[in-house]
Amino acid sequence: MRKRIYLLALELLLIGSLLNAQSKPESKPSVTLLKTGRVLDVRSGHYIESAAILIEGDHIREIGPAVGIQAHVPKGAAVIDLGRATVLPGLVDCHTHLMARIPDTPNGYALNLATKSLAFRALEGAADARATLEAGFTTVRDVENEGSGYADVALRDAINQGLIDGPRMQVATRAIAAVGQYNPFGVSSDLPDFPTGAQMISGVEDGRRAVREQIGHGADLIKVYADWNYPTLTVEEMSVIVEEAHKAGRKVAAHATSAEGQRNAITAGVDSIEHGHGADRQDLEMMKAKGVYWIPTMGYYFYHVDSASSPEARKYMEEVLQRARQNIPIARELGVKIANGFDPSSAEDHGQNAHEIIAMTKLGLPPIEAIRAATITAADLLGWQGKVGSIEAGYYADIIAVSGDPLADMAELEHVKFVMKGGVVVRNEFAIH
Ligand SMILES: [Zn+2]
Repeated sequence: MRKRIYLLALELLLIGSLLNAQSKPESKPSVTLLKTGRVLDVRSGHYIESAAILIEGDHIREIGPAVGIQAHVPKGAAVIDLGRATVLPGLVDCHTHLMARIPDTPNGYALNLATKSLAFRALEGAADARATLEAGFTTVRDVENEGSGYADVALRDAINQGLIDGPRMQVATRAIAAVGQYNPFGVSSDLPDFPTGAQMISGVEDGRRAVREQIGHGADLIKVYADWNYPTLTVEEMSVIVEEAHKAGRKVAAHATSAEGQRNAITAGVDSIEHGHGADRQDLEMMKAKGVYWIPTMGYYFYHVDSASSPEARKYMEEVLQRARQNIPIARELGVKIANGFDPSSAEDHGQNAHEIIAMTKLGLPPIEAIRAATITAADLLGWQGKVGSIEAGYYADIIAVSGDPLADMAELEHVKFVMKGGVVVRNEFAIH
């Protein structure tokens, strides 16, 4: 009986949506001509001077020298003139936590969970999504929501439905960690039901269930914690997590800062190593052999080392940076795929995502390669190659612009002055009034 009622409800829904579709008037997608000083071809690393981009609806229809394109622009097309601005594809951050505004205070993580409702967390996420988009990051891979339920799924869907402004999102939802081995630490044992920052598991079947639950609730990828100070999830646990995720076409991102945690995760078959601070040459060779992406997340350390909260913290951060200086050239030599990810987790960090790209260049990655890490390589990791990460016909019209030459001065990326996502202008400081 209940089944019949469900079927009836489903039928009504379908009829409703069909009627809705039929009642909409046929309208041609809008056409916009974007005139630029030059466009960066991220594949070749060269600029196309005096270029124009023809945009139809939310996609790029044509890109090339303005003289050629202007000759056949359809009548009635809107024109946006960016003057001499340098234009790049919208940037991609592969390691965000848009739901995270964790206070940098003692027990800050636990307080964050104890004092904010999930509704409030979601609204914080909306604000962070807007800040990220306005900074020129039109796509993010959000690698766990730090104990906000499935608020990241809601955020992604609200953005996709046009309810709020934000980047295109892939979300990992809750993430999976070993029982007792992830934030918040220090909660009284008298509070066994205190919320956790990740979904805590012990054993392969727990892991399998967690993946199935998270995918069922809307996860685009799965995040695991291979270590936390020491290796935590076992190879067996992570192998099952990878098996379940891959079966559903979802990739697995592994947090790993220790060499052993990283090796365990790679052995289990994960698709990316987040941080990887403890890697040595052999680990990087292992990543290359298995086609695993490396998301170094160096920006936080690079920009915060001088204001470290204690001498120990400063020492640790300096060690991480020193290792990165050694590993980035090795990764380049081996051909390990490096993707950009800033790892923002405080109110101040969201929108500062360009710090990561800049930090990578300070640690040995040539500017064009750092930009590729935040465009085409990132798009490959997301499985969105052909959709985002480049200004080419058929791609989403996700486009940003800066005043100067980012290849000569990467700090330009901190001052993005024009942002378009899917053909819609989000900000334009070049507008001529
Ligand atoms: Zn993170």
